[in-house]
Amino acid sequence: TPQSWEARAEAASFYGFTDLPTIHERGTVVLTHGEGPYVVDVQGRRYLDANSGLWNMVAGFDHPGLAAAAKAQYDRFPGYHAFFGRMSDQTVMLSEKLIEVSPFARGKVFYTNSGSEANDTLVKMLWFLNRAEGRPQARKILTRKNSYHGVTVVSASMTGKPYNDVFGLPLDGFIHLGCPHYWREGRDGESEADYTARLGAELEDTIAREGAASIAAFVAEPVMGAGGVIVPPEGYFQTIAPILKRHGIPLVSDEVICGFGRTGAVWGCQSLDFMPDAIIASKAMTAGYFPMGAVILGPDLADRMQDAAEAIEEFPHGFTASGHPVGCAIALKAIDVILNEGLLDNVRALTPRFEAGMARLAQMDHIGEARGMGLMGALEAVQDKAGKVPFDGSLSVSERIANASTDAGLICRPLGQAVVLCPPFIMTDAQMDEMFEKLEQALTRVFAEVG
Ligand code: PLP
Repeated sequence: TPQSWEARAEAASFYGFTDLPTIHERGTVVLTHGEGPYVVDVQGRRYLDANSGLWNMVAGFDHPGLAAAAKAQYDRFPGYHAFFGRMSDQTVMLSEKLIEVSPFARGKVFYTNSGSEANDTLVKMLWFLNRAEGRPQARKILTRKNSYHGVTVVSASMTGKPYNDVFGLPLDGFIHLGCPHYWREGRDGESEADYTARLGAELEDTIAREGAASIAAFVAEPVMGAGGVIVPPEGYFQTIAPILKRHGIPLVSDEVICGFGRTGAVWGCQSLDFMPDAIIASKAMTAGYFPMGAVILGPDLADRMQDAAEAIEEFPHGFTASGHPVGCAIALKAIDVILNEGLLDNVRALTPRFEAGMARLAQMDHIGEARGMGLMGALEAVQDKAGKVPFDGSLSVSERIANASTDAGLICRPLGQAVVLCPPFIMTDAQMDEMFEKLEQALTRVFAEVG
């Protein structure tokens, strides 16, 4: 008998991140295509993808305009680089568009193939800049525990997840501050404002201990994504930003997930009302239709980088596919689709329904916290609601929920003991209701098993 697709997938493909119990209990799901917010597997089963792929497929899986933009550019000029004083017209137009939609009055864009590489590139830019300006010791990077910035050696070092231990990471000089999760980290009797103040004091203490002159940047996701959709406490960035400014430390907003509408504004920093010195973008920038990332420098860093590069004639860095014309053509179309063809409007219109669905499920006995912003949310499973006591880790509760959801025709993601939802921006009201109904079925089944 011919081997199944599922068996073939497991035999010859090596998994990275797997949410392991999910794979072992139900086997690999092999997908062939998508329809709107649904994906379809080799057996013809349809799944509503409450993950938007990996937070990126915001226009769904069969957007005709995006495929047409790709085809037109493949026919016209299928590939070029952005080295040696040459780049495609599409690249020029995308840089102008990114600056136009950024919070910056002016700036400069550097392209990568992924969010990880964009964070890596940012760090190399700052190291390069600080050396050129006579401050070679300014190399340390501040991020937060539980943050996710990628998997390359530098971006993994920025990432504040315990699993980096298995690689002997982080590298020296990558410092992880407290995770701004009030529900979990706030102390008994501590108000949200007090918690924010404590995180501000931690930053001040860290700068004093390490020395401001040794620090190159503070990099933060506006709302942490892969850390479990952590919305910072009230006033967090308003506390952090002035401290950094006083010490001359750039604040970089990693908008790989939040950027291009996820939080209800174009940028997460706009939803949370702070002004960064640079932005890291990827994912929704091409609606997931092409792998692409970007470092968007605000005016001050752009000017200083330009001077530093001119002083030695170049910034010696770049990827073969940096500013790929097909990626840029797709990104131009994706940004247009999001901003001008109603996707961002739909995020805003759907958000109350999303919040109501989350609030309804938060009534369940084993949901400790429902949190989120715009169309990103998480439901935190707990053994004991009042005491915020997590389930025994060996029960793999969130993975079981993801499994039961898959059985019900819904893809959602377990992160820690939370289940995360980040639906595509094209969802209809009916599809959103279907998402919550299926998730409720899955939660009910799993809580009956483990509760
Ligand atoms: N930064 C953030 C905030 C992310 O969520 C991710 C990926 O999920 C990355 C960086 C890394 O992006 P990539 O997977 O494209 O390398």
